Amino acid sequence: MDTLEDLARLSAIVLSSEDAIISKNLNGTITSWNPAAETIFGYTAEEAVGKNISLIIPDELITEEHTIISKIKKGEKINHYETVRRKKDGTRFLAAITISPIKDNKENIIGASKIARDITALKSAEQKQAMLAAIIDSSDDAIVSKGLDGIIASWNHGAEKIFGYDQTEAIGKHISIIIPGDRLSEETEIINKIRKGERISHFETIRRTKDGREVNISLTVSPVKDKNGKVIGASKVARDITEKAEIEKQRQLFTERLQELNHYKDEFMAMASHELKTPLTVIKANLQILEHKMHGDTNIDFVNKTLNQVNRLTNLISDLLDVSKIQTGALELNRTNFDLTPFLEDVIENIQQTSTNHQLILNANNKKLMVRADRDRLEQVVINILTNAIKYSPNGKKVTIDTSIKNKEILISVTDHGIGIPEDDLDKVFTRFFRVRGLASTFSGSGIGLYISSEIIKRHGGSMWVESEIDKGSAFYFTIPSANS
Ligand code: ADP
Repeated sequence: MDTLEDLARLSAIVLSSEDAIISKNLNGTITSWNPAAETIFGYTAEEAVGKNISLIIPDELITEEHTIISKIKKGEKINHYETVRRKKDGTRFLAAITISPIKDNKENIIGASKIARDITALKSAEQKQAMLAAIIDSSDDAIVSKGLDGIIASWNHGAEKIFGYDQTEAIGKHISIIIPGDRLSEETEIINKIRKGERISHFETIRRTKDGREVNISLTVSPVKDKNGKVIGASKVARDITEKAEIEKQRQLFTERLQELNHYKDEFMAMASHELKTPLTVIKANLQILEHKMHGDTNIDFVNKTLNQVNRLTNLISDLLDVSKIQTGALELNRTNFDLTPFLEDVIENIQQTSTNHQLILNANNKKLMVRADRDRLEQVVINILTNAIKYSPNGKKVTIDTSIKNKEILISVTDHGIGIPEDDLDKVFTRFFRVRGLASTFSGSGIGLYISSEIIKRHGGSMWVESEIDKGSAFYFTIPSANS
């Protein structure tokens, strides 16, 4: 027989329990309802007691109750049965229930006691954990955790694949099983940082596999903290970047090889141009003598045509020599102070003589435009732009040259009304050997002139650019610092 004291103790337990403790008779009528049942289901004891238990069972699960009652009648207990129950406000939740028969003092079953717990939060935590575990398991990266003593605590499939040790071989061992001997000090540094709560991101290093191979990995190590924020270990994500490292190595080798070849090419170009220049100078000199001697001869035309071609070759060779000088940084400037206006007048006058079809117009404002520059190199630039303006405007008659000065910078522009340049090629025309596509059959050229010109201008501290519209014409600009104080 229960003493009064026992009863009081039991009643205190029921009242203070966090689980809902409910009793019902064999008809399903609720006979008791503790405070936790009030909290969990939302019904007060007054509202619930006397009602049928179906009050908290969702309609579609009502047959469960029949099964439960029939088990109870047989004296059976139902342990941790997970099901869904309904609250007063209609919401449903996951419940774990334990139901036991209640017997009278003659051992007759007169009802059932029911302990119910809301396990929604528990379930969702379980699900989250399962999901995380699945992510870790399916990752191609090695995901490893270890204590501050370096002992491996977890080891995923990715780690098995990358390092060759399976879980049973790795867990419990020291992390140094995958660290090459000459890199052991890295681990000390990593652990020191982790102790301070610091994270190591994308640290590229080398680790060793079970069969002794070395793998390039990118490592991210983060501190693992307990509930109180104390660092208790480290989680480590390692990605195999051997392939990436191999590609990088190859790329480096190719770059070096390319630089080497480029160097040979520059050397060859310089040598070849030099070697070509000497015989050509002799040929030119002899041709000039011949031209002089054949004055009045009907065959002089052959000599003149040959001289023209020799001149073209001489120009090409001198351009090639310039390119190699630029490449090797050997382009020297011989600077003097001079006024750009008379200089431009001279150059324009010379070029005008080469074309009767075009009219070169200089809009000079008669102001002194003093520069400190290499006169010959600057002349080369202006000749290049003017001859281009003439060459690439077979139908346009006028070429205008404008000068202006602003903020200690002199701006020169040459505008033609020729074929223009496609927008996509505007920057490219200043690169070595670039020519706009489809020009070769109509216009001779090598694509070097503007490269040399823009480099000469850069060396003078100026810049060069072009504005252009197809079939309307082009305007080439360059600036040069003014020497006016
Ligand atoms: P080249 O004229 O010998 O080909 P450049 O380096 O002087 O070499 O010019 C590079 C390219 O820029 C030319 O081939 C041509 O396509 C384009 N170009 C240069 N000047 C003009 C211009 N005034 N009008 C149209 N296109 C031009």
